[in-house]
Amino acid sequence: MPAEIKGLNEECGVFGVWGDNCAAELTHLGLHTLQHRGQEGAGIVGLTPAGLRRHYGLGLVSEVFRDPQSVTQLQGTAALGHVRYSTAGGRILENIQPLLFRFTTEAIALAHNGNLTNALSLRKKLEAAGAIFQSTSDSEVLMHLIRLSQQPTFELQLIEALNQVHGGFAFELLTQSALYAAVDPNGFRPLVIGRLSSGGYVVCSETAALNAVGAEFVQDVQPGQLVIIDDSGMRVRAYTTHTQLAVCSMEYVYFARPDSEIYGISVHEARVRMGMRLAHEQPVDADIVVGVPNSSLSAALGYSRASGIPYEMGLIKSQYVARTFIQPTQELRERSVRLKLSPVRSVIKGKRVVLVDDSIVRGTTARQLVQLFKDAGALEVHLRIASPPLRFPCFYGIDIQTTRELMAANHSVAEMRDIFGVNSLAFLSTQGLIDSVGLSDTAPNGGLCVAYFTGEYPTPLEDYAPALKQELSQLQLHVSEVSA
Ligand code: AMP
Repeated sequence: MPAEIKGLNEECGVFGVWGDNCAAELTHLGLHTLQHRGQEGAGIVGLTPAGLRRHYGLGLVSEVFRDPQSVTQLQGTAALGHVRYSTAGGRILENIQPLLFRFTTEAIALAHNGNLTNALSLRKKLEAAGAIFQSTSDSEVLMHLIRLSQQPTFELQLIEALNQVHGGFAFELLTQSALYAAVDPNGFRPLVIGRLSSGGYVVCSETAALNAVGAEFVQDVQPGQLVIIDDSGMRVRAYTTHTQLAVCSMEYVYFARPDSEIYGISVHEARVRMGMRLAHEQPVDADIVVGVPNSSLSAALGYSRASGIPYEMGLIKSQYVARTFIQPTQELRERSVRLKLSPVRSVIKGKRVVLVDDSIVRGTTARQLVQLFKDAGALEVHLRIASPPLRFPCFYGIDIQTTRELMAANHSVAEMRDIFGVNSLAFLSTQGLIDSVGLSDTAPNGGLCVAYFTGEYPTPLEDYAPALKQELSQLQLHVSEVSA
């Protein structure tokens, strides 16, 4: 394991269709709706009369599928699509999904959202036994495990394989006879099922993508469930009963679209509640509340509602600049914050501003924004973050895999306040986040994974444990602030 902990398969979006004559076109539309979940590359495998066919590439969905022919050539009654998140490492064409495996008797497409905690050790074992991998992505491990299984049917082979991989996953597999979908035993990564008016089914990462293709919501795929859809309809079975709900809280905080619902909770409403709770926990006397578009607007609205401080359009976002987080170098990231966000001077000048953002990762956005607000004549800037300080890495599929880059792991809140040069800085409490989402009364942490804030991981970290221990031993000082 390299010194810097880095997985190869992070946040992604998946979209599968079975039983509709426009399967490839619907998948293309669905991937556009899921574009926020991954901008590094995209791909679609279509079940055509000639078998499974794939088109994929690096870039945005609109770039990969610029030529309309790239979608029409995939025409058939089923399809599987994927958008992949950008990371500094692993940016090679071989990692763009769906992966397509061709065997003498059949072909299988595989798409994965998440990160496996035992992929490396499984891969080493498989390689030692002669397996040949085509990508550096850990998703491929599942296919090798399926093929090695001695079970009599594909379904049972898949179940055996699903019980060997650990961590965060929403898998979809497309064969010539069925579409399969499965979620890990903790439900870290979301996956939902929808029904099309044609009678066909959609299985995808977010309900916003169901809405985009006119599919009616059927159900969330529950932790430990395997869904099988074929020409005789849909079946749902448990591949394991050892489950414990721990949905990734960053899905609610930042990642998912506000118009999606995860396990019945509206992402927008959850964010509004986070902002309201933040206003109660961390009040401040100010003239206006401004949110950082787009992911923080719901929380800013909540802060304004609960505090009675008017909400203002103090920041404008250019619709045509991609997310800053994914820029490969710090200098590029800083420049793109300014390109992407610009303050409305007439609104901000002479005002005491509560600036609400959903999270602080490296601190690039906050640092740049505070400077922009000061340049625009803000009298005071009070930074309020609608999630707790991100201090620990995620190993289940969010691209936060090294503490070294996490600002709150390296600095106390007081230090961060000084670095940003704000009048005050405060975060939402972990309990505040759990209550705001309001997912479950019975599961630990209200059914959320809050490991990035507490360092308490819902599962063993396996391959990642030694490197994390080493990283954390160097960060004792600020990690010890966690319970504060
Ligand atoms: P930073 O500028 O590095 O502090 O990143 C903070 C911004 O990135 C916040 O405004 C969030 O909206 C966004 N963000 C939070 N988590 C992630 C993530 N896992 N991937 C991409 N962007 C994120």
